[in-house]
Amino acid sequence: MDGLEKILSDAETLLRQERELYGGTIYREPMKKQRTAPAPPAAPVPSADVPAAAAAPWQSAPDLAAMNRMICTCTQCALGSTRTKFVFGVGDPNADLMVIGEAPGADEDAQGEPFVGRAGQLLNKILEAVQFRREEVYIANILKCRPPGNRKPEPGEVEQCEPYLWRQIELVKPKFILCLGLTAAQTLLRTTESMGQLRLSTHLYRNTPVIVTYHPAALLRNPNWKRPTWEDVQRLRKLYDEARAT
Ligand code: SF4
Repeated sequence: MDGLEKILSDAETLLRQERELYGGTIYREPMKKQRTAPAPPAAPVPSADVPAAAAAPWQSAPDLAAMNRMICTCTQCALGSTRTKFVFGVGDPNADLMVIGEAPGADEDAQGEPFVGRAGQLLNKILEAVQFRREEVYIANILKCRPPGNRKPEPGEVEQCEPYLWRQIELVKPKFILCLGLTAAQTLLRTTESMGQLRLSTHLYRNTPVIVTYHPAALLRNPNWKRPTWEDVQRLRKLYDEARAT
């Protein structure tokens, strides 16, 4: 392939990706300059923060399937008595990319799988637009049970449930994390920064790069956020490709 063919091929790929995300609307605004995170956030230390959980069998679960079996009947917070189904996570247990959202919604609560409703379908499209298939990433939430009425997770619920996510990340060992939505990002990164600040930087969770973007459910409510989301996942793909090339 000569230089001109390569340029045309790259342009065709870019236009196809944009069409998949935006339909007929083509986005031409220049990409914003990437900011470097000022400093990695302090890494959560599960064993120190939650001594009671440190001795629990799931902390030493050998794999995700075993861990799921150990915690799927959890009632450590009140959501354990209001959920329909426990929503552990789904995808490749050895995924290079882990996608982390906030909590199950109604569809996820009914089916026991994260991101299966309209927001999940949009997430699949977003991933496909940058050449990630749902089956090759691992998807999980901060909370494993649905908060009634899809309300925001309460601090006590996050405190009880987030150690499960920490262990999932330990087991998957992703090379990149894509955080969906402000709640998931602020929780995982231990920050109070706004979405506007968070999405323009690459963060670190225990040395794993974290990209932050809008939650697909938010995109369904506000299509104007599709454009910045497109920028974010493009940046993720670029970083991912650069890491693979080294
Ligand atoms: S939300 Fe988490 S901590 Fe609460 S019952 Fe469900 S699995 Fe347990």
